[in-house]
Order: sequence, then structure tokens, then C-alpha cells
Amino acid sequence: MQNNSIFEKIINKQIPANIIHQDNKITAFKDINPQAPIHILIVPNFFIASLNDINQENKDIVSHMFYTAVNIAKQKNISQEGYRIIFNCNKNGGQEINYLHMHLLGGIKMNKLF
Ligand code: 5GP
Repeated sequence: MQNNSIFEKIINKQIPANIIHQDNKITAFKDINPQAPIHILIVPNFFIASLNDINQENKDIVSHMFYTAVNIAKQKNISQEGYRIIFNCNKNGGQEINYLHMHLLGGIKMNKLF
């Protein structure tokens, strides 16, 4: 499926972003409006709209996103203190960009959500 989103342009380096990891499956880059000292977005290199579009065919990408996030957390020295991983999904989940993305947040003690 094609998608002309900002994240696709970042992956393809058509617009600038602070990319900290890229492999043949995913791209990780700094969030432009960080909500914590470390705020990194991790996205598949191919379009998936939201968590609702995870299926039998593409589900392995999610484990690769988690594995990469954990490695980035270790590289950024936030793994011992701790961090938070968030996927927002659609309107009620607060998803603003229609392209599956994982938020990795750390470097500060965050309020509990519940
Ligand atoms: P959402 O609210 O959809 O879960 O998260 C979208 C995230 O994308 C937000 O945290 C927002 O700051 C980030 N974002 C939006 N546009 C850009 C951009 O052009 N570059 C980067 N690096 N992040 C962006």
C-alpha cells in the first residue's frame, strides 16, 4: 500500500531527520517535538497505517521494532533507569500520524498513566 506521509519521506531521506538507526526493515529517528530527554520514533520501512493493520503477514516487524528499541535504550544508557514504549492507535489512542510508529521515551521519571 502506498502512503505519502511525512514518515515515508524521512525513511527515504527526502526530508531531513535525525536518524539514529536504519536497517532494511525499520528506521528510528528523533521526534521533532520531544516529550522526554530521549524521544525516538521507530517505524517500519513499509507502510502500515496503525496497530489495527498488523496481520499474519507483517506481524514480525513489531518484534523487530521492540528489539531495536531495547537496543537503542541500552545505547542511550536509559535501560537501567527505565523507559516507556508507546503505540498510539487512532483517535482515542491519540494517533496523529497515519503511519505505524513506536515511541521510545526516557531520560526522566514519567508520571504513571494508570
Ligand atoms: P502520534 O501522536 O501520531 O502518536 O505521534 C506522532 C509523532 O510524530 C509526534 O510525537 C510528533 O512530534 C512527531 N512528528 C510529527 N512530524 C514530525 C516530523 O516531521 N519529524 C519528526 N522527527 N517527528 C515528527
